[in-house]
Amino acid sequence: MPHDVLDFRSDTVTRPTPAMRKAMAEAEVGDDVLGDDPTVLRLQERVAGILGKEAALFVPSGTMSNLIAVRLHCKPGEEFLCEAGCHVYNFEQAGYAQLCGVAARAVEGTHGVLRVEQLEGLIRPDNAHFARTRMVALENTHNRGGGRIQPYAHVEAITRWAHDHGLTTHLDGARLFNAVVATGIEPTRWTRHFDTVSVCFSKGLGAPVGSALSGPRDWIAEAVRHRKVLGGGMRQAGVLAAAALFALEHHVDRLAEDHANAQRLAEGIRGIDRLRLDPPTVDTNLVFFHVDRAWGPAAEFSAELKRRGLLMLATSPTMIRAATHLDVDRDDVERAIGILAEVAALRRPSQRPAEVS
Ligand SMILES: *Cc1c(COP(=O)(O)O)cnc(C)c1O
Repeated sequence: MPHDVLDFRSDTVTRPTPAMRKAMAEAEVGDDVLGDDPTVLRLQERVAGILGKEAALFVPSGTMSNLIAVRLHCKPGEEFLCEAGCHVYNFEQAGYAQLCGVAARAVEGTHGVLRVEQLEGLIRPDNAHFARTRMVALENTHNRGGGRIQPYAHVEAITRWAHDHGLTTHLDGARLFNAVVATGIEPTRWTRHFDTVSVCFSKGLGAPVGSALSGPRDWIAEAVRHRKVLGGGMRQAGVLAAAALFALEHHVDRLAEDHANAQRLAEGIRGIDRLRLDPPTVDTNLVFFHVDRAWGPAAEFSAELKRRGLLMLATSPTMIRAATHLDVDRDDVERAIGILAEVAALRRPSQRPAEVS
C-alpha cells in the first residue's frame, strides 16, 4: 500500500520496520522442527518468562494457537464456555468443531465482557446425554467488544469459579499487551488466572507473522505434536522469531501511542453527524462506529472512504471498524477524521450528483 493510503483496517497491516528487518536478516537459525533453532528457543523462553508460564510454543497464527489450546483442554465430546462475540467462536471457522470434535457454548456478554453469574449453572451434569463441560475461554482485549479490556475483577471471579468447579481456563490474549499497557497491570497478573495463554506478535506488536501459546511444560510438549499435525511445524523459523523478539523489546510500550490515537479518532467521530461510536468509549486501539441508516450501508460508506484514500472495514450492514497501529500517526488520524466528516456529509450515494463520484 503506498504511504498516501491511510490503512486503518486492522493492526495486522503493519510492515516490519527497517530495524525489525535487520534483526530478522541477522537472526541465527536452525531447524525448529528438529528443535535446534536458537532464536525460536530464545523467543519461547522469553514469552514464557513474560507471561509467567513454564513454557511457550511459537506458532504461525493466533488461530492455530487457539486451536491447539482447545485440543489441549478438550477431547471430542467435550465443550468449552466462551463469550458469544469472541474470536475463537466466530472467526476461526469453528475449528474446534471441524478439527477437534469439540463444542462451544457461547454466552452473550456486554461488549465482550461476561459476569460470573452468567456462567453459574452452565456446567452440564455428569450424564451420558450431555457433552462434558471442560474449559472457559476469555478474550482480552476483546476484538468485537471494541478492544474492550476485561475488568480485572471479572477475570478473577470467572477463572476462580472455573477452577473451583474443575474447569480449566484459556486466555486468547491476541491483544493482551494492549490491556497491559492501558491498565498498567503486569502481564503475569493477568495470566496467572489461566492455564494456557495465547498472544499474537502480528497484531499491535507489528511483527509480520506469529503467535505463541504458553502454559505448563507438559502441556506445551503435547502442543508440539498438535502443531505438527496441523502443519504448523516451521524450519528456519528463527527469522520470524527474531521479528517477534524485536517486537517484544521495542513495540510494547509504544502501544500507548496507538491508544492515544484511537482516543483522538473517537473524539473526532463523536463530532460527526450520522456516525455513532459503539461502544461509546474506547479502551485501547479499536474504534467501532455505526453509520446512520439514512446515509446508507456501511459497505458503501467504506467504499467512499476508500475513494479518498482511507481504508476502514465494514463489519456489519451498519458498523465500521478502525484500528490504530504502528503505521498510522497523529497526522494520519487527523486526515482520517477529515475524510470521515466529508463522506458523512454526502447525501445517500444514490442521490449524489454524478460529479462527486
Ligand atoms: C487476530 C486474532 C486472533 C488470531 O488471528 P490470526 O489471524 O490467526 O493470527 C485470535 N484472537 C483474536 C482476539 C484476534 O483478534
